Amino acid sequence: LVERMRPFTSTIFAEITALATRTGAINLGQGFPDTDGPDVILDTATAAIRGGLNQYPPGPGMPVLREAVAQHQKRFYGLDVDPDTEVLVTAGATEAIVATIMALCEPGDEVVTFDPVYDCYAASIALAGAVKRTVTLRWPDFALDETRLRAAFGWRTRVVLVNTPQNPTGKVFDRAELELIARLAREHDAVVVTDEVYEHQVFDDGVHVPIATLPGMAERTVTISSAGKTFSVTGWKVGWLHGTAELVAAARAVKQFLTFVSAGPFQPAVATGLGLGDDFYAALAGGLQAKRDLLVEGLRAAGFAVSVPRGTYFAIADAAPLGFADGVELCQRLPELVGVAAVPVSVFYSDPTAAPSLVRFAFCKRDEVLHDAVERLSRLSA
Ligand code: PMP
Ligand code: GLN
Repeated sequence: LVERMRPFTSTIFAEITALATRTGAINLGQGFPDTDGPDVILDTATAAIRGGLNQYPPGPGMPVLREAVAQHQKRFYGLDVDPDTEVLVTAGATEAIVATIMALCEPGDEVVTFDPVYDCYAASIALAGAVKRTVTLRWPDFALDETRLRAAFGWRTRVVLVNTPQNPTGKVFDRAELELIARLAREHDAVVVTDEVYEHQVFDDGVHVPIATLPGMAERTVTISSAGKTFSVTGWKVGWLHGTAELVAAARAVKQFLTFVSAGPFQPAVATGLGLGDDFYAALAGGLQAKRDLLVEGLRAAGFAVSVPRGTYFAIADAAPLGFADGVELCQRLPELVGVAAVPVSVFYSDPTAAPSLVRFAFCKRDEVLHDAVERLSRLSA
């Protein structure tokens, strides 16, 4: 294995899921729902398979899905997207991220990201031979500090890689923070790559602001999302990106040699999902918010300190009040201690000492599973 990929031989999600399976623990580690998405979406996929849509779809993605992505961006955000030249269907958001970073960064170029960061970002940057410059967001509010952000930019900055709502913190970047990022990106002539896979999982009175909607940003932003989270079909691996025709063509040049095209029969099904009514989207956010409340309350009752997430389906808890100083060690022992699996947050930071005792729990699970999990966790302090 080449040196630059050696830090990435296994992912924390695979490790924790293997541990949960081995021990029979409730898996609140890897983020995936334990129920399927709406029947109409599943039925469209089945019909597509039975209807013979089983050969290579077009390179940029099936027109029906590109059209649906463009309409979705117009409907929710007022963005004008040309489905023919400004959308690319990818194998999940993961491929969209890798393809975009590889398409935009020469070796040695710098990518500004925000710690704690989703794991595939660092690997994508390493694959491209680029250099990661991180801005550290700290527990409990993960606020963005302007001085630290400015310090991360330099003459080699090529890309700013944003994730809002953010995994693992549950932070929803507010307009002022995004405007600051946008201003610095413009000043340094950098492209913003924004991962918005949790765009419909925002709680309370929060709003998701796509950075492409800010003045002057549509022309320098690649927006990425995915069907996995919105439609509870994480195994389908259908994602997409949109941006200017030039940026999309660049990502497409790389994508065609990563996977060539993405799974055909799922594309019309995801298009159906994107066209679902507002009630679907409201129920998604409302249902998850209730699950968030259930988990946050349960974690607090169990003795954790909790940072209430404003989006995503993850909550970060501090285990220090329970006497656990090391989150990695706790997550290795948690299945055997109480039969619950979670992910240590320190693995998402370049500096693991930034968050030694933080642990991430996923709440995209059935209520009875969450009740069972918090009941088990309450035994930690017994
Ligand atoms: N970005 C973030 C922030 C994620 O949490 C995930 C995992 N669900 C992905 C990207 C990957 O999405 P996909 O499964 O569509 O590749
Ligand atoms: N995005 C999911 C998470 O953060 C996991 C995806 C994966 O296993 N790579 O838990």
